[in-house]
Amino acid sequence: MSLFNTQNIRIYNSLSGEKEVFKPLNEGYVGMYVCGPTVYSNVHLGNVRTFMSFDVVFRYLKHLDYKVRYVRNITDAGHLENDADEGEDRIAKKARLESIEPMEVVQRYTVDFHNILNEFNFLPPSIEPTATGHIIEQIEIIKSIIDNGFAYEVNGSVYFDIHKYNASKEYGILSKRKLEDLIHNTRALDGQSDKKNPQDFALWKKAEPQHIMRWPSPWSDGFPGWHLECTAMSTKYLGEQFDIHGGGMDLKFPHHECEIAQAEATNNKSPVNYWMHANMLIMNGKKMAKSTGNFILPNEIFSGDNPHITKAYLPSVARFFMLQAHYRSILDFTNNGLLASEKGFFRLMDAINIIDDLKISSTSSFDVNTWKQKCYDAMNDDFNTPILIATLFDAAKFINQVKDGSATITKEDLELLKQTIETFTFDILGLVNVSKENSGTDKLSGAVEILIKLRKEARLNKNFALSDKIRDELAEVGIQLNDSREGTTFTTS
Ligand code: AMP
Ligand code: ZN
Repeated sequence: MSLFNTQNIRIYNSLSGEKEVFKPLNEGYVGMYVCGPTVYSNVHLGNVRTFMSFDVVFRYLKHLDYKVRYVRNITDAGHLENDADEGEDRIAKKARLESIEPMEVVQRYTVDFHNILNEFNFLPPSIEPTATGHIIEQIEIIKSIIDNGFAYEVNGSVYFDIHKYNASKEYGILSKRKLEDLIHNTRALDGQSDKKNPQDFALWKKAEPQHIMRWPSPWSDGFPGWHLECTAMSTKYLGEQFDIHGGGMDLKFPHHECEIAQAEATNNKSPVNYWMHANMLIMNGKKMAKSTGNFILPNEIFSGDNPHITKAYLPSVARFFMLQAHYRSILDFTNNGLLASEKGFFRLMDAINIIDDLKISSTSSFDVNTWKQKCYDAMNDDFNTPILIATLFDAAKFINQVKDGSATITKEDLELLKQTIETFTFDILGLVNVSKENSGTDKLSGAVEILIKLRKEARLNKNFALSDKIRDELAEVGIQLNDSREGTTFTTS
């Protein structure tokens, strides 16, 4: 029997605003679409958090024996600077600034994206389609939306007619916005726009002469609107209706609202059964974002080379830190938070790594089966990773008690405990097993700390030649010492 027959997942559906029992359209199969990155710059840790939430959803569904088709796209065209229909294409702008081809920008940051996700031990999605690879599909959707009367063409551009749509459907159904309020809150058209109403959004934009990324279409040489690619690719690979659609909270409006409108206007069906939205990673009280400069890059976490952190952290420690918060909660990025997670992560690893050395007894003082179901219950409750981690710590505590002789376990229970804790820790949470002793960054930290101490002694003895030599020679191998009133820390490059 498949595991999904015995475990009932409840998912918080942004569409209904409630937790609902998860029932896929086809028993045993799950179709899941997650909006991927716009590849015009390096992904920051906030982006990683959202993708990680869905990596864990993917891992858990697979663990429950579902056959999952997970589609996560790459946005390599059509995403304009201000998320609406104005400004320069983000990728074209980067290409212009660096005097390279837009596709060089796309290649560079797609490779970076994959490298970073590999560092964090992500599973690859089943399909990773690109917007530029699906221009024909996008044009076909525009044709049907025009045929169905929900879009109009002006001067080579095509716009979605929100007012017409809202007469028979509900624009705002996902984000709980009312069209009247939107009308009230949007600026009037400035006379330059071709739109009938400011709320309308572009399905196709005619390219200005200088716009490099352009394709022929029945309306003009141009490019698709940003929202359209996700409708085209999700429909192509998952069908007109599919199970789960995910993305960051900030995509709910307008991006996902427009996806629903496009799909309804094409097929007259609501495209997605469960809409899932991951909450934001914040730093200094503000959303982590490239545009404001308030961000930290994953490589800076791995090297420790960022003023917000005092040392380097393993990818699994950063992963653990993020999964200690539920995906629907805001998470505040702090060095203290990472330090606490590092301790917790090694405590869990140390417990797992001594399981094989435990002494077997004829009785168990821990109900392993009840504990195992608690692990499932946590994940079944809208993928509650912090509760799961707390439950894993219950087992870690017990393991340490068996080690010091204050608790007992039978052979069968020990096997079940080992298999379960490893499955949840490594297969489902996606952590990588390292013990503190084996962790390279930790050994490096230890060695540099010794040198920092020797340098301090040299300075106290007024042996400045030696203290400078230590600093300069470390700098030559890429380790910078930073002196401050609190003491000396180091960063690596
Ligand atoms: P983008 O490349 O800007 O389209 O973003 C890729 C994904 O990262 C989207 O799902 C965003 O919602 C998500 N995202 C952007 N900023 C943050 C943040 N600070 N915290 C969590 N997710 C974010
Ligand atoms: Zn999307």
